Amino acid sequence: MSVAYMLLATAASFLFLCAVFVPLERVFPAKPGQRFFRPKWWLDFCFFIGQYLLWGGLVLWVLSYFRTGLTSIVPAGFREMVASQPWWLIGIEVVVLSDFLIYWGHRIQHKVDFLWRFHAVHHSAEHLDWLAAHREHPLDSIYTIGLINLPAFVLGFPMESLAALIAFRGLWAIFIHANVRLPIGPLRCLIGSPELHHWHHDKARDSGNYANLSPLMDKLFGTYTCPDHEPESFGIREPMPGNYLGQMLHPLKPRRRKARAMAQQKTAPDARDGS
Ligand SMILES: [Zn+2]
Ligand SMILES: [Zn+2]
Repeated sequence: MSVAYMLLATAASFLFLCAVFVPLERVFPAKPGQRFFRPKWWLDFCFFIGQYLLWGGLVLWVLSYFRTGLTSIVPAGFREMVASQPWWLIGIEVVVLSDFLIYWGHRIQHKVDFLWRFHAVHHSAEHLDWLAAHREHPLDSIYTIGLINLPAFVLGFPMESLAALIAFRGLWAIFIHANVRLPIGPLRCLIGSPELHHWHHDKARDSGNYANLSPLMDKLFGTYTCPDHEPESFGIREPMPGNYLGQMLHPLKPRRRKARAMAQQKTAPDARDGS
């Protein structure tokens, strides 16, 4: 794929997403008065460009490698049994199993410090809109996309249907970050909506709403939350560099040394007193 083609595809996607989400954010704003070029807009734009020009290809490569590996492990008899079911049933199985896996995978990301390092980059956004959806560390993307597609790979879901599902999930992931609050009432219990994911971006690390497409898993496992107003502020309660390169490298930095240095700093005055 030529560089010119990639640049053209990136520009076309940017314009398409602007055309879809900017009017929606104007007509149904969750936080009225938020400017298009809100703080850290350019940082999120760097993530957008990085995803399209650098990391998207890497994620797809890892995914296809993963798919090939799984194909060789899953017994042919199991695949034949799955394929003998009606296509709509396989579709439902794939969506429900993916939602189950991503729910728990995401919940674990918030619990386990090593995974949180990478996921915290996404949560460091203090202003949500369609562009902020792109602030994601590439290793976080590989984890999420790998997990979400695991059932489809194991069940041998047809590639064409999978492409449509991946595209829909991608658009949905952007939509739930948009600065939008749609008046869909109780329907949000079934199909999910931006306000649920906005509450997931509340500053508390265990704020709930971990599900992907539908909030049913959150309802089932007791992590559903949807107050009738927006959270006061978004972000995380820990330091995070404010630039693209800093955020890419931050999760990879050794933490023990840092913690040790902080502990030494704390004990230093005592040591001096003693000497
Ligand atoms: Zn999260
Ligand atoms: Zn998010």
